[in-house]
Amino acid sequence: MGDNGHIENVVIIGSGPAGWTAAIYAARANLNPLVFAGRPKTIPSTIMPGGQLMMTTDVENYPGFPEGVDGKAMMALFEKQALRFGTRVMTDNGQNPEPDEHGGHLYVYQDASKVDFSERPFKIWSDKDELILAHSVILATGATANWLGLENEKRLAQSGGGVSACAVCDGALPIFRDQPLVVVGGGDSACEEASYLSKFGSKVYMILRRDEFRASKIMADRVLENDKIEVVWNSVVEDILGDESVTGVKLRNVKSDEVSTLECRGFFAAIGHTPATQFLEGQIELDDKKYVVLQNPPRSLTNVEGVFAAGDLADAEYRQAVTAAGMGCKAALDAERWLADQGVH
Ligand SMILES: Cc1cc2nc3c(=O)[nH]c(=O)nc-3n(C[C@H](O)[C@H](O)[C@H](O)COP(=O)(O)OP(=O)(O)OC[C@H]3O[C@@H](n4cnc5c(N)ncnc54)[C@H](O)[C@@H]3O)c2cc1C
Repeated sequence: MGDNGHIENVVIIGSGPAGWTAAIYAARANLNPLVFAGRPKTIPSTIMPGGQLMMTTDVENYPGFPEGVDGKAMMALFEKQALRFGTRVMTDNGQNPEPDEHGGHLYVYQDASKVDFSERPFKIWSDKDELILAHSVILATGATANWLGLENEKRLAQSGGGVSACAVCDGALPIFRDQPLVVVGGGDSACEEASYLSKFGSKVYMILRRDEFRASKIMADRVLENDKIEVVWNSVVEDILGDESVTGVKLRNVKSDEVSTLECRGFFAAIGHTPATQFLEGQIELDDKKYVVLQNPPRSLTNVEGVFAAGDLADAEYRQAVTAAGMGCKAALDAERWLADQGVH
């Protein structure tokens, strides 16, 4: 590793389902991949080695785990599988982690802090200013769910106490069945989340700051026609109540300033996602919401030849572990074929 003139075949940036899956495929194709797994950021950010699933206790929809699996345990398995085939990871001490020890080394994993894709070989700098040269790059830095930023939201999200940012992921969990649930947000995804949750909860309250939806009319109409969903207009959530698990939310009406308590057993933040692409600005085509634009979907090509993208940073639509892993697989296969065409490997 490092700029001693050595050029990596493929550098993978990100270590969620997309990044580790790309690493598994690239390593098994003898590409000897190097991964920037990312340095943990202040909680509740989900920017950390292992990615967003490190924030969840129950993953029940990833195939192969009929009893469900803890998110951290699942990502440890992804990592272990990638390391088993020879994946290397950028660490502060220059040593690769052992496949069977997970956890302690998370804090020595490095970020990619800057890239230069203007010419080949591509340049990637670590957050310790180490320069890596690469023939190809797979971007898999994911996205972070936006939270309200409340202390109790963070606490109950981490403890599995009924706070979530993904209804499709968590809505079917037993704790939410036949219970009153709260969704915050007024966009299309919030409407989708509320509609989805109405299949499980006894009642779904949608909390909207304004007196109108931001969502498209068709999505808003679907919510308004759903008997199990009640919209609470002109209101913001000031706190989430409950010690072990959610018991209610404290609301403030923004017009009257009146404060009230709404009883519920689940809280879902549906106020958007932010792709982790800040360090890519100016280097690669991003859309108006800063997602990486894929040039020829379902392929993983970006507008820079030799740079590929996989997972939530290029997918505002599905945002699931299994789709991110599938995209990681595609990116590694695309990179392998492209390197072969270039006569590099
Ligand atoms: C609370 C929660 C629960 C969820 N539950 C489920 C579920 O049950 N089932 C399901 O299918 N999906 C679930 N999801 C969604 C799922 O986690 C994501 O769709 C999936 O993790 C996306 O994978 P990814 O690899 O694209 O990105 P991420 O998982 O976001 O991983 C991105 C990675 O990039 C790294 N990174 C970021 N910036 C840099 C940088 N500059 N340099 C180096 N590394 C960097 C991060 O450290 C991280 O490792 C959940 C999400 C959340 C937030």
